[in-house]
Amino acid sequence: MPFFVVTIALPVPLRRLFDYLPAANENAGCYQPGQRVRVEFGRQVLTGIVIGCHEHTDVPHNKLKPLLQRLDDEPVVDEPTLQLCQWLAGYYHHSLGEVLELALPVMLRRGCELSEVDEKVWLRQPDAHSADLKGEKQRALWQLFQQHSQWSHKELTSQGYSQAQLKRLAELGLISPRQQLPVPAIATTIADPLPLNDEQHKALQQISQHLGSFKPSLLEGVTGSGKTEVYLQLISKALATGKQVLVLVPEIGLTPQTVGRFRARFDVPVALLHSGLNDRERLQGWRQCKEGKARILIGTRSAVFTPMPDLGLIILDEEHDASFKQQDGLRYSARDFALVRASKTGVPVLLGSATPSLETLHNALSGKYLHLKLLRRAGNARPPAMKLHSILHQPLTAGFAQPVLAKMQQHLQAGKQVLVFINRRGFAPLLACRQCGWMAECRRCDARLTLHQSPAHLHCHHCDFQQGIPGHCPSCHSPDIEPIGQGTERIEQQLKQLFADFPVRRVDRDSVRNKQAFDQLFDDIHNGGPCILVGTQMLAKGHHFPDVTMVTILDSDSGLFSADFRGMEHSAQLILQVAGRAGRAESPGEVWIQTLYADHPQLNLLLDNGYHALALSLLQQRNQQQLPPYSFMALLRSECEDRNQAQQLLQLARDFIQQFQRHHHQQHDRQGLQLKQQGLNLLGPFPAIMERRNGRFRQQLQIFANERSALHRVAEALVQFLEQQKGFNRVRWHLDIDPLDT
Ligand code: ADP
Ligand code: ZN
Ligand code: ZN
Repeated sequence: MPFFVVTIALPVPLRRLFDYLPAANENAGCYQPGQRVRVEFGRQVLTGIVIGCHEHTDVPHNKLKPLLQRLDDEPVVDEPTLQLCQWLAGYYHHSLGEVLELALPVMLRRGCELSEVDEKVWLRQPDAHSADLKGEKQRALWQLFQQHSQWSHKELTSQGYSQAQLKRLAELGLISPRQQLPVPAIATTIADPLPLNDEQHKALQQISQHLGSFKPSLLEGVTGSGKTEVYLQLISKALATGKQVLVLVPEIGLTPQTVGRFRARFDVPVALLHSGLNDRERLQGWRQCKEGKARILIGTRSAVFTPMPDLGLIILDEEHDASFKQQDGLRYSARDFALVRASKTGVPVLLGSATPSLETLHNALSGKYLHLKLLRRAGNARPPAMKLHSILHQPLTAGFAQPVLAKMQQHLQAGKQVLVFINRRGFAPLLACRQCGWMAECRRCDARLTLHQSPAHLHCHHCDFQQGIPGHCPSCHSPDIEPIGQGTERIEQQLKQLFADFPVRRVDRDSVRNKQAFDQLFDDIHNGGPCILVGTQMLAKGHHFPDVTMVTILDSDSGLFSADFRGMEHSAQLILQVAGRAGRAESPGEVWIQTLYADHPQLNLLLDNGYHALALSLLQQRNQQQLPPYSFMALLRSECEDRNQAQQLLQLARDFIQQFQRHHHQQHDRQGLQLKQQGLNLLGPFPAIMERRNGRFRQQLQIFANERSALHRVAEALVQFLEQQKGFNRVRWHLDIDPLDT
């Protein structure tokens, strides 16, 4: 047999591929890119992905090891996915093996067989004629099989059909069981599409012209303007041409309401992929898409990797949402990746938002994306009235201004619901001594401990450190210590006293621990009558609260003066998102924003002229300051228990970049090319906003470039340079391309 090696991507941080000898008795024909193999790597056994076979290797022959086992005959990573992952690894300067690991369901990473998730499925027999069926239940069951020829056993039993009823149909020769991939759920009654208003109609018309080729569009429409209805009708058109559709939503937006609305519209199997599923369900959903059984996939961030052979359309709702960017490991943006995937697949991609990110808006305004707007709320709902209420020099009761409390009372008495938004969990953000000024601080972070009352303890929200509440000041021993400021728990407690006649419900990560509890709570709220809802971001996204007619926003000020250049953009998005919860049904809503800065120009611009106007003004600022989207950014972060080392590594990086830049300029000179400004701009190194977290000091170096290609050239060289640095073993670093938080 001629000599060859199998080149493999392994889930390790090293940015290179690895050569192994084939398994015993296997020839090059056995190996195809995308198959999984088991190999020894150091002392571990890892699952890798075959990239190719080669007759040449740089590894000395006596160092080559045979791989342990080939796991697949057919590739599990198909060709398009492999290419996309290669692109992604290049763009984020990341290990291909780790990218591929992310792209595969956990069970496949562990080396499981695909068939391991097969289950009992009932199939309608060909030429089965309905015999004389006794009993309503049996006739209903048979009716299901006349609608769809396959049903998963689990689905049928969950709908209340019994083993005996199924057996009876099998005995009559109508259906038979088989062990195979279960079919995704299909609706049995289909809701009609709504007649579109003019704006919706125009949007749908324009986007659907591009089915069959790559075209990005932005659908900018206020909350409740009927974006989802446009998605649904667009999906319908894509399905009609035999295509699959990928719908990406923020984690928190994947509610039973949304899913129900999608399922109820289409006569096709819909798969779901989100963090609430177990590993089996994830592999099932993945296979349903890959094998073409599911025609629609609704999923959160990592669903963007799911192979779909007939993909014809990608929709990404709430495109501005931060959850589309992964914040650790491979810091990829599922939105940006969805665009690349759409372009490589030749399909349209629709981004929807009431508050588009400035990046996307810029692309739409410059004509790169089709820009469609829905300016009015659909149906009869009116937009909420928004009001800034100054609390400067005003007496506050429990953190509320008197007129705000009076308004809340009014809404409650009218039988409506009031939502109070405060983006801070716990009882109080601070516990302090009134005698000496001591404050409870985290020993491992530059942060104060948050006081919680149920259960009572002090908690660091940054490193998860917890401790009991001291009975007296640890510094001066005075018993006079008190909570300062307010979190959701305290607001809840105080509102219960102020509005004794109405229920108060708290919605945050502490009170709502899992998806079921979450869904239950929303059912309660729906059926609930007048009440006050106090909550964090969790309340702000994705949900319809038809009875909420007033929203009070308590702490929007913190975002107005953020050190992050995206601070105002994100504050505005959050305010509008919360505001969008009010008055979605027939009753008009009002939103009161308590602020110390009632004359803040940008806040006023937002309230008077809307998000789009503010966004235009922010874009102008970004342009003047050459910040994204008018420049391209990478952020090198380092952290270490030793402050100096974290800083020194970034200083080295800075020196390297400057040298790299000079070198490039000289090269251009020598070749007689016109000296092209690389346009690199460096800021830092300087400490991160919270310098110490979890015992480590954190530093950052911001790199800006005028052109994306220049950024990537320097990023690639920089990563290689840093990988070669010795003597910084204790420093952790990573390069974040297109960072969202700085
Ligand atoms: P968005 O996704 O922009 O928040 P939705 O699509 O959820 O908006 O629409 C908001 C509400 O308006 C929903 O209750 C929806 O059923 C209704 N709606 C949407 N389009 C229409 C229409 N053309 N006619 C009547 N009602 C509509
Ligand atoms: Zn004290
Ligand atoms: Zn901490």
